[in-house]
Amino acid sequence: MPRVVVLTGAGISAESGIPTFRDADGLWEGHAVEDVASPEGFDREPGLVHRFYDLRRKALTGVTPNAAHHALADLERALGDDLLVVTQNIDDLHERAGSTRVLHMHGELLSALCRGCGRRIPWTEDLVDFPPCPHCGMTELRPDVVWFGEIPYQMERIQGALRRADLFVSVGTSGAVYPAAGFVQYAAGCGARTLELNLVPSAGTAMFDEARHGAASVLVPQWVAALR
Ligand SMILES: [Zn+2]
Repeated sequence: MPRVVVLTGAGISAESGIPTFRDADGLWEGHAVEDVASPEGFDREPGLVHRFYDLRRKALTGVTPNAAHHALADLERALGDDLLVVTQNIDDLHERAGSTRVLHMHGELLSALCRGCGRRIPWTEDLVDFPPCPHCGMTELRPDVVWFGEIPYQMERIQGALRRADLFVSVGTSGAVYPAAGFVQYAAGCGARTLELNLVPSAGTAMFDEARHGAASVLVPQWVAALR
């Protein structure tokens, strides 16, 4: 069986009813990006940022994984350690579908990061009331998500997996946000075949060996069935 890295983005979660984070007008649900997704915005108005992510965290309880998430969990059962899912999404839909080998390069809604002691803490409650860190007691918890100007998580592990991959598949990503948008060239340069599965051609679609366009909930199960 081939070694496979699958990159997933907002498109796969959109079909479960999670709104695409970035609207066409450059706002995130009515907020300027720099207000809710930057360290400076958090320093300026932490209550606003907490409310924004608290709402998104709560909304997770009303959504379920779709056929694309389930197909990737099926593929993991077949490939084991030879499959790695790298996701730009901060929801937990891959895990709820049964995937266990998932890297959240942009962090997770169900985690808090303490700016006091640096620990990452599984988190399901609101943060807007500035609860104390269970480890150090400081009221320095922030959403454990990667904001603009911050370095995505686990980049060395991701690059290592891309170097070893026989196949790189990009699912539901715009191809516009780096460093993820550069994974296709990196994987191809290391010898992997590359495939795009996206609703519409992404910004980087020409860089893939093959591109199929349509709903992830249709294309991903088809691709997994053919691979198996
Ligand atoms: Zn702490």
